[in-house]
Amino acid sequence: MSVEVIVLVGPSGAGKTTIAERLVRDHPDRFVLSVSATTRRPRSGERTGREYQFVTRGEFEAMVGAGQLIEWAEVHGEYYGTPIGNLSRAGEPCPVPVLDIDVQGARQVIEHAPSALVIFILPPGPRRWIGRLVERGTESPVQILRRLRTALAELRAASSFRKSIVNEDLDLAVEQVLALTRAAEAGRGCEGEPDALVRRLVAGARAEIARLEGPCDAGMAQ
Ligand code: 5GP
Repeated sequence: MSVEVIVLVGPSGAGKTTIAERLVRDHPDRFVLSVSATTRRPRSGERTGREYQFVTRGEFEAMVGAGQLIEWAEVHGEYYGTPIGNLSRAGEPCPVPVLDIDVQGARQVIEHAPSALVIFILPPGPRRWIGRLVERGTESPVQILRRLRTALAELRAASSFRKSIVNEDLDLAVEQVLALTRAAEAGRGCEGEPDALVRRLVAGARAEIARLEGPCDAGMAQ
């Protein structure tokens, strides 16, 4: 059985995008990145059509209304969604689309494509994870706080996804995605046991939220 779509899901800062990019860079004949539509503003260096299709809220709502998205969700206060065209290439011998999406979107994809290979990406531990979120410098403290709060909900959902990878080392994580793809194609299960790590990540996120809440209170109230 061939894998029709790979979905990488997990909290912000877990490294889903980096894993997806590396997978496609190393195996361009086998995998292709799914470019989502979003209402969030481009970060410096991001270009529409490459990282995302950047659209207005009105344009996004029109896409939803026209049934152009296979899944969509509001994440961290912005809309994100996967255009149907990224998935539907029935009959073509083409690369497998790799989706980097949130938990709500992953559940919708599973409904439409029960054979999707959905992999929950866990950061290696609270310190490296939160350090990565803060040090990449793409979000303000208020936005980090918001992402951590969303992450708590995503981590609670981790156990509902049967396959998971701990992103300790990028090369290894990419190898593990490939191994899970091979196992899925061979019809074998390969399940992770992330419970103890999830508990540590939740505790780390809670501690950081408590630390950020003080200085950020004024900003959050706006
Ligand atoms: P970022 O703003 O950091 O690029 O992405 C924020 C979150 O939105 C990440 O968890 C990312 O996986 C998720 N996301 C990106 N594209 C999509 C999409 O098309 N659908 C859904 N549901 N989530 C997405």
